[in-house]
Amino acid sequence: MAAKTIQDELQTIRDASLYRRLRRVEGDQGPTLILDGREVINFSSNNYLGIANHPNLAAAAKQAIDQYGCGSGASRLISGNMALHEELEAKLAELKGTEAGLVFNSGFQANTGILSTLTGEGDVIFSDALNHASIIDGCRLSRAKTLIYAHRDLDQLAAALKQAANSRHKLIVTESIFSMDGDEAPLAGIVDLAEKHGAMVMVDEAHATGLFGANGAGVVAKLNLGDRVLVQMGTLGKALGGFGAYVAGSRSLRELLINRCRSFIFTTSLPPAVMAMAIAAIDLVKCEPERRERLWSNCRVLSEGLRAQGFHLGASASPILPLIIGDAGKCMRFSEQLLSRGIFAQGIRPPTVPEGTSRLRITVMATHTRAHIDRALEVFQEVSKQ
Ligand code: PMP
Repeated sequence: MAAKTIQDELQTIRDASLYRRLRRVEGDQGPTLILDGREVINFSSNNYLGIANHPNLAAAAKQAIDQYGCGSGASRLISGNMALHEELEAKLAELKGTEAGLVFNSGFQANTGILSTLTGEGDVIFSDALNHASIIDGCRLSRAKTLIYAHRDLDQLAAALKQAANSRHKLIVTESIFSMDGDEAPLAGIVDLAEKHGAMVMVDEAHATGLFGANGAGVVAKLNLGDRVLVQMGTLGKALGGFGAYVAGSRSLRELLINRCRSFIFTTSLPPAVMAMAIAAIDLVKCEPERRERLWSNCRVLSEGLRAQGFHLGASASPILPLIIGDAGKCMRFSEQLLSRGIFAQGIRPPTVPEGTSRLRITVMATHTRAHIDRALEVFQEVSKQ
């Protein structure tokens, strides 16, 4: 792209109120942050359980560095498959109740890689309209035909499955908890339809891992659907407070991904410290259920408070509370007003969300205090009056 074109492109983005800039965070990922030099209460983190700065994770990472060094040296299939990768994978499989687990370097890489491994030309992917960008890109990369069904709409999904009855492989992909709306997919209905029409099911548990089901295994586990879902993926960088991603499923799925999945094969494996953090995080979540209870109690207080002020939060069933504003410019002005009063609730605009549904994506943490939440409610009321 020539320099002139870059400038034109940037102007187009600004004109549409879609310009983005990076904000600088100092200090750790707590319920309060120093953001661009000023202290704010943080309602914009996926560190839902507040463990990204937990001493257990830090100690595990430090010990891993002392024992195994910093870098992993190569990809998993060359010399980068270390004991900690396999230990974490066994732990993930145990948590999820699956035969096997496989670590990926990020959720984005996992989604693009899995979809393009399991489907190709001649196949059909059925994808929820609000699925994450990494799923959308995975569909594109796969070269399969992609049929988008309306958000959480089982009737449309059933019609699409019928329409594609003669295609080779069929795969339904959905998030379990949607990243920008916080609502839950109708997984039981999806699995029923998949079985009826001979389709594979892939569930993205990025925003459910650590939060739902026994020991935080996710929504698939909560609904006891593990045996009927071919692929469960999730991330280690949100509620689990670290970095990276995983796939849980059968031993043969793991083997196929190791052999065919380009975003697994052609990348340096995650460093040992990152694996150690994830192992510590899974243990912590398991032995501290009170963290999840605090999170749900905080969600209740904040969402009831906002609803009492007349805000609509959609069908959120998670710590993600979408406060829909509509217009992108108005949404960013609302977010800036909140920020000037010390409340950080990120405005989210297209293309992250559909046109006309710009919103504040308010996320709750287990480590928010009552005072943090009360202050947020006060500020929301003040700003909305303007
Ligand atoms: N899936 C969903 C639903 C997500 O929200 C995200 C992250 N925003 C990802 C996948 C990608 O995960 P990662 O950040 O580990 O790349």
